Amino acid sequence: MTEATMEAPVDQQEFVDAVENWAEKELRPVARKYDLADEYPHDVVEQMKELGLFGATISEEYGGLGLSAWTYAQIVVKVASVWMAPSGIFNSHLIMASAIERAGTEEQKREYLPRMASGEFRGSIGLTEPNAGSDLQAIRTTAKLEGDHYVVNGNKTWITNSLHGHGTLLLVKTDPTAQPRHKGMSLLIAEKGPGFNVDGKLKKMGYRSIDTCQLSFDDYKVPQRNLLGGVEGKGFVQTAGGLELGRINVAARGAGIAEGALKMALRYAQERTAFGKAIWEHQAVQLKLADMATQVAGAKRLIEDAARLYDRGERCDLEAAMAKLAGSEAGAECSQQAMRIFGGYSYSVEYEIERYYRDAMLMCIGEGTNEILRQVIAKQLIERNRI
Ligand SMILES: Cc1cc2nc3c(=O)[nH]c(=O)nc-3n(C[C@H](O)[C@H](O)[C@H](O)COP(=O)(O)OP(=O)(O)OC[C@H]3O[C@@H](n4cnc5c(N)ncnc54)[C@H](O)[C@@H]3O)c2cc1C
Repeated sequence: MTEATMEAPVDQQEFVDAVENWAEKELRPVARKYDLADEYPHDVVEQMKELGLFGATISEEYGGLGLSAWTYAQIVVKVASVWMAPSGIFNSHLIMASAIERAGTEEQKREYLPRMASGEFRGSIGLTEPNAGSDLQAIRTTAKLEGDHYVVNGNKTWITNSLHGHGTLLLVKTDPTAQPRHKGMSLLIAEKGPGFNVDGKLKKMGYRSIDTCQLSFDDYKVPQRNLLGGVEGKGFVQTAGGLELGRINVAARGAGIAEGALKMALRYAQERTAFGKAIWEHQAVQLKLADMATQVAGAKRLIEDAARLYDRGERCDLEAAMAKLAGSEAGAECSQQAMRIFGGYSYSVEYEIERYYRDAMLMCIGEGTNEILRQVIAKQLIERNRI
């Protein structure tokens, strides 16, 4: 099969190799057990702490590894090609960390980033509400300044890492009457405390064993110094500022699922025989394998392009959206094609391909649904090619 087009800078390659070894030796043997039991993998989290994954993209100045987006994407592909779910434990955590590093005050960076880099404080992203996902400006959670605290009331849903994590980057309305709506939105660094309620872990089709929960806030108090960046009304723009890295992450998770599914299909197609020959020798199976490999290689190339631009500090909204679209669709398509190649055995939990299939679809929904992303891509194309 075609090997990765993505290669880390030499000094970071060692870390990528270490993560790959860990994923093969430690993650692969336990993935099915945790997934089927829908049980949180505490021992895996401890191993990820030791590896330094919780500080992967946090600057060395704040105790992290300071990896490039390019290297980071490669790590995510490796982990997701074995088991996608654990990549979610450090991904949303690092999106929170990157928002603090990008938009936080120096005091906020010093207070949170070293603890986040070690994994002592594990974070999440608290944006979605029961009535508002794609249309985030429609959120209803409010934060009212009273003295030196914000008093928060409202509900969030689908918040990953919120049961076992220690806090969330919480999108709120500090001015619910503002027009345009986004000018009344702020982000709070919300540590768990009285009034921050985790109401229940949601039962999910895939992405199991990772905690995704509903939250409610009842007169929950957040110190004013935890307003991200110290200025109200910037929350929507700060959220949008993290989308490029978030989309590169999700693209890498999708590409990882696709690559993992392809590897399993390649092996099975050589082991299984039908009509006197290995099934790969039937043209219908060859067509599937060829399409899968082409999708994986294409998605990786787009991820590489977007990550390279991101690392250079250049605009990459179009490229990150294309990478996310291609990576997530590759995950969904390749896991489905692999199911077909496995035939009836694809339905057995003994063969883990069904997990890839269940996990893949989420990548088409998170960090902007693929419908929204197609609109982003089209608008950018017009903007960059105006006549
Ligand atoms: C397992 C899981 C984990 C998650 N983790 C988190 C998390 O950690 N933090 C968090 O904040 N959120 C999280 N989410 C929420 C996720 O980000 C949202 O589900 C996603 O943004 C879509 O929002 P929605 O579900 O409200 O769908 P909606 O916005 O209601 O969309 C429904 C459909 O309408 C389409 N649609 C909506 N608006 C438009 C438009 N303008 N043009 C074209 N089509 C449109 C969408 O593409 C989609 O097909 C998670 C979700 C899941 C399932």
